[in-house]
Amino acid sequence: MVVENYDRIVEKISKKSNIPIEEIERKIEAKRAKLSGLISKEGAAQVVAAELGINFDNEKLKIEELLPGMRKVNTSGKVTALFPARDFKTKKGDPGKVANLFIADETSNIKVVLWDTNAIKLLETGEIKEGSSVEIINGSMRDNELHLGSFSEIKPSNETFGEVKAGKIFREKHLLDIKLSENARVRAFIVQSYDPKFFYVCPQCRKKAIQEGGGFVCAEHGAVEGEKRALLNVVLDDGTETIKAVAFHDTLPELGLTDLNNIEQLFMQREGLLGKEMVFNGTVRSNKMFNTPEFIIETVEEVNPERLIVEFGH
Ligand SMILES: [Zn+2]
Repeated sequence: MVVENYDRIVEKISKKSNIPIEEIERKIEAKRAKLSGLISKEGAAQVVAAELGINFDNEKLKIEELLPGMRKVNTSGKVTALFPARDFKTKKGDPGKVANLFIADETSNIKVVLWDTNAIKLLETGEIKEGSSVEIINGSMRDNELHLGSFSEIKPSNETFGEVKAGKIFREKHLLDIKLSENARVRAFIVQSYDPKFFYVCPQCRKKAIQEGGGFVCAEHGAVEGEKRALLNVVLDDGTETIKAVAFHDTLPELGLTDLNNIEQLFMQREGLLGKEMVFNGTVRSNKMFNTPEFIIETVEEVNPERLIVEFGH
């Protein structure tokens, strides 16, 4: 969770600078206020750390602690996925190679991008493979990816990891900063909500079932009993940007839409969403019809009132 991550960074800054946590948090909030809130808490924490002369160079960090903009970071993890190297041409026209892998530890997971042919060789020879533990030295964070160039190192290690976090990670983001296909955790207001839309799916393959005569037909499974599903379109606003968002069937109860067969109640519940602030975890996709970015809501959380107090110091 990003908030825990933030807390950990604040704690580290406090320890290294001998300044109490509360004061570090005040400095971070002041920095954010000065920048009109256009910087994330983690980003502001880094600026404050830099101003205090603190860096995390050459310190071994848990994956969750790796933040955009960090340089010279060391970490380790278990390889959860590997992708074959791709050839490309540099701007000068020189041939280059790049390979991606994912590593995970108990706190999080991250995409690692290898730009160095010696590092890539370790993947090609199988010295580093899925399930191996690796140590990374001198990597640089580019957005939420860890990039390794010719001054970085990746090598097999004997470290063992317990249960690693291999699932999707949603990192706290401002809507303004989210890129296509990125997973993000956004705290935003619902500024518009539309009437829920209904459709039917085939219970076997989950694909859309077409209404025909009195029943439903699946392209693959023929006549089927259509299963009623719903989706809800909303517009989110977090103060930096607005974005169209869509929540599908299984996420609707988290938004307070409880009974899909009670239309009247449903429309009242969707009205009640207007102006509500919540935390949305999801992915940004390009809407095929309009070619505009759209936030696919995967899970929703209530804004924790206690957390609010901590964040704003009331
Ligand atoms: Zn089907």
